[in-house]
Formats: sequence, structure tokens, C-alpha cells
Amino acid sequence: MSAQHGTDIHCLGLVHLYRSEQAQVVALRGIDLDIDAGEVVAILGPSGTGKSTLLRLLGGLMQPSAGRILVGGLDLTSMSSKELRAYRASMVGIVLQDAGTNLIGYGSAEENVWFAQRGARGMSDDLPTPESLLRLAGSEGVGSQPVQLLSGGAQQRVALAVGVAAAPPLLLVDEPTTQLDAAARDDVIGALLRINAERATTIVMVTHDPAVAAAVPRTVTIRDGRVGAEGRHGKEYAIVAKDGTIQLPPELLAVLPPDTLVRLHAHDDGVDLRRAELDR
Ligand code: ADP
Ligand code: MG
Repeated sequence: MSAQHGTDIHCLGLVHLYRSEQAQVVALRGIDLDIDAGEVVAILGPSGTGKSTLLRLLGGLMQPSAGRILVGGLDLTSMSSKELRAYRASMVGIVLQDAGTNLIGYGSAEENVWFAQRGARGMSDDLPTPESLLRLAGSEGVGSQPVQLLSGGAQQRVALAVGVAAAPPLLLVDEPTTQLDAAARDDVIGALLRINAERATTIVMVTHDPAVAAAVPRTVTIRDGRVGAEGRHGKEYAIVAKDGTIQLPPELLAVLPPDTLVRLHAHDDGVDLRRAELDR
């Protein structure tokens, strides 16, 4: 269980609706996404596009309305709530938005990590020590003061150590750098990349922060509840979804607005889209 390797992820046609008495919100409307073991992926996109919803689904915190999620070959969408609890305890570390919500404020950094290991301690005899995890997250030397007295950046790094306390093969992180200055942000990015480099943990993080996006090899932009674009090493690409659809980047919608009829011309290496000139 003390994994020193990551896990792969496959999302197939993920749909998620939030229902309330007044309204129904479609947060995700068909996400297809494949992530290899040991990848670091940043999920980007405007506010309200379903990024945190996707993270909660990957974390087994709730079940999707439709579609499938496979993590390390386990089908989360067929799990009972008891099985999901076991999944959350052993397979995934979840660092929610606002570092403080992941921490016990009056505890020290070491106590926080130690406490987060309580479930795993009985099941594994090679858990990393709290000191080694705090070092991994760049939090060594924060001392025994209550974590609520630490700076935002220092709290976030302790939260990352807590996230990987049970040595999960997957770490999910929501908006880890909001409200941090540039130096603190770089320390948090460094901690994430070090966790990935040293433990091969698969990391999926949601971010608004261009500096975070620029620091990772792969980005996935969610638009309107679907995967709109993929970035690899700083270059943006559109992607053909499993159902054959392709989203135009927003700037091209000025050229081909919604409902435009287009002609498709195939070439050896691609397809041209041209506005159709209709015969009268
Ligand atoms: P993001 O993280 O990209 O900002 P979210 O996943 O938080 O987006 O939300 C996607 C959509 O779902 C938004 O319209 C949001 O208002 C709605 N939503 C999120 N959580 C809930 C909830 N618990 N109940 C109802 N609607 C929700
Ligand atoms: Mg969010």
C-alpha cells in the first residue's frame, strides 16, 4: 500500500448533475480523459466549468450521474460507499481548496501528518515518516507551533504532506496557489513536482494560475463541462473526443460562430473547415 508509483486514470463520458429543489445544474457534460501513471496534469478553465466537480469524482467523494471512472483498474462508479471509503483511505490523497480546511489548526505540522496516517498505519509497515513527508513537501523546520500560525504557503505545503501521508498513488489538489505571492507559489509548485519525482505519484491539480500551468508538462482545459483543449509542453491543441466531437477554441468562434454550416475537406494529415456557401 505504501505505493512508490502512480496510478492511471480513465474517465469515459463523465456527466454530473447537481440537483436542488429549485434547479438542476449540469456541471460535467461528457468528460473523456486518460491520464498515465506518474503524470502531472493541471486542469484549467474558467470558474464554474466543473473542475472541482471532476476532482471530487476522481477522489471518490461522490458518484457521477453517468459515465465511468477507472483508477488503477478499479471502477469507482461500481463501488459501494464502503468500497469508496477504502479507496479514499488507500488510493488517493485529496487536498481541497484553502489549505486550512485540510489541516487541524491547533496541531503541529508533524501531528497533522501523523494523524493523517492513522488509518494506514495498521495496514502498512513501510509508511514514510512524518519528517520525511514534511521534507518532501519542503516543510521541514516549520517547528511545533500550531499550523494555523503558519503563512498560507507554509500551510499549503503541510497540506500536501498530509495529502500524501498514506503514500497514495494518486494526489488530487484543488487550486493550491490561490492567494499566495510568487515566492510561496513557486515553493508549492516545487513541492508538487518533488512529490511526483520522488514517489512517482500521479498528480491532478485544478488551477487558475498561469505559473502553475506553465510548470507542468500537460494541461487539460475544461470548457462548458467538456474537455476543450489539451496543452503539451506549452503548446495548445484541440482534441477529438471519443464521440468524434471537437470543440473550437473560443477565439475561432468569431470565424465560425455556433450553428454555422461547414464543409469538411480531408487531407492526408488533417481536415479543413470552411463556411459553407449555400446554393439558393
Ligand atoms: P469550478 O471548480 O470549475 O469553478 P465547480 O465544479 O465547482 O466548477 O462547479 C461547476 C458547476 O456546478 C457550477 O455551475 C456550480 O455552481 C455548480 N455546483 C458546484 N457544486 C454544487 C453543489 N454542491 N450544488 C449545486 N451546484 C453546484
Ligand atoms: Mg473549483
